[in-house]
Amino acid sequence: MNSKQNQKGATLKLKLESRGAHLTQQRAAVFDYLSQVEHHPTAEEVYLAVKQKLPKISLATVYKNLEALVNCGAVSKLSYGDAAARYDIRTDHHYHTRCLGCGKMWDLEAKAGPDWLKQVKPQAGFAVKDYRLELLGYCRDCRQ
Ligand SMILES: [Zn+2]
Ligand SMILES: [Zn+2]
Repeated sequence: MNSKQNQKGATLKLKLESRGAHLTQQRAAVFDYLSQVEHHPTAEEVYLAVKQKLPKISLATVYKNLEALVNCGAVSKLSYGDAAARYDIRTDHHYHTRCLGCGKMWDLEAKAGPDWLKQVKPQAGFAVKDYRLELLGYCRDCRQ
């Protein structure tokens, strides 16, 4: 483990402890997997991956660990209607591309900041609380 990873682990531990939660081996494995992949996996995908390392872990435990990570602000949860929620290691405001085939999502580098938002005019009386920019399409695997 390099020092950068050590630092990440220490920050995660502090974040969890500030919410009265602990950094367990399972929680660390869930967090590690999320930091290793780029497609913002669902709980099910996290479960299948983490199970390789920790065969005794259950899907319910993965859900609980993901919720704990979301609650302490270490991970963000992306919900889209009826589709399964996806989990993102980034918690800053950023944008995504989303595949209509497999549902995977990737970070999108786009400069759509407050200046861009000023040009968008919602109907009178609409109070804007948040916004997201998303490119919908098909990923390389799903295009074939
Ligand atoms: Zn796809
Ligand atoms: Zn993201």
